[in-house]
Amino acid sequence: MKEMTLYVDHAFREKIVSELGAERLLRCFQCSTCTVNCPISEFVDWNPRLVVEKCLLGLRDVLKEEGLWLCTSCQNCYEHCPQDVRFSEVILALRRLATEEIKAGRLKVGSTKPVFDECFLEMIAKYGRQYEAGLIRMFAKRSGLGFKLLLSFKGLGIRLLKKGKVALRPKKIKHIEEIRDIFRKFGGDRGEIGGYK
Ligand code: SF4
Ligand code: SF4
Repeated sequence: MKEMTLYVDHAFREKIVSELGAERLLRCFQCSTCTVNCPISEFVDWNPRLVVEKCLLGLRDVLKEEGLWLCTSCQNCYEHCPQDVRFSEVILALRRLATEEIKAGRLKVGSTKPVFDECFLEMIAKYGRQYEAGLIRMFAKRSGLGFKLLLSFKGLGIRLLKKGKVALRPKKIKHIEEIRDIFRKFGGDRGEIGGYK
């Protein structure tokens, strides 16, 4: 049988562990409790224990995991972990690292979730609240889903408009600068969000 040697990329491992939410990764003793309690691992190729192992080995491929964008943040993994690793927070840390790589053009992912998240935040930075009509237009354009996506929302959009649940025009909240200050403070070296750096 051919031997396989695995090298630990210490620099990348340290990078992950230094992220907010991923500080407890080294506590993991690979028991798989997170995996057996994860509702999505039954349906898609997603194994939280393996993801932690990849982080501990510093495997950059971990940022390509499709499940990073499918996780529902249900917190089952967080609640059941005997070592308090807080895996759901590790996912948020990995998403941030993956988003950096995507923006730098070094990583491509199949999911449109990173694009959606960015549009969502831009709307909040701009108006201090969500502006759904603008969000869906921006997302349709940036994701490349275009007109097809807009059409698929037509029926729902009209129903929501009639019930007054969505607005045709955006409205800024009062004291919008306070929201933008949050973006300035936490956008930091992650780069610009919605033009408020
Ligand atoms: S439940 Fe906790 S200790 Fe067990 S494999 Fe998952 S993260 Fe590691
Ligand atoms: S938070 Fe995500 S990874 Fe954790 S159990 Fe829920 S879906 Fe699975």
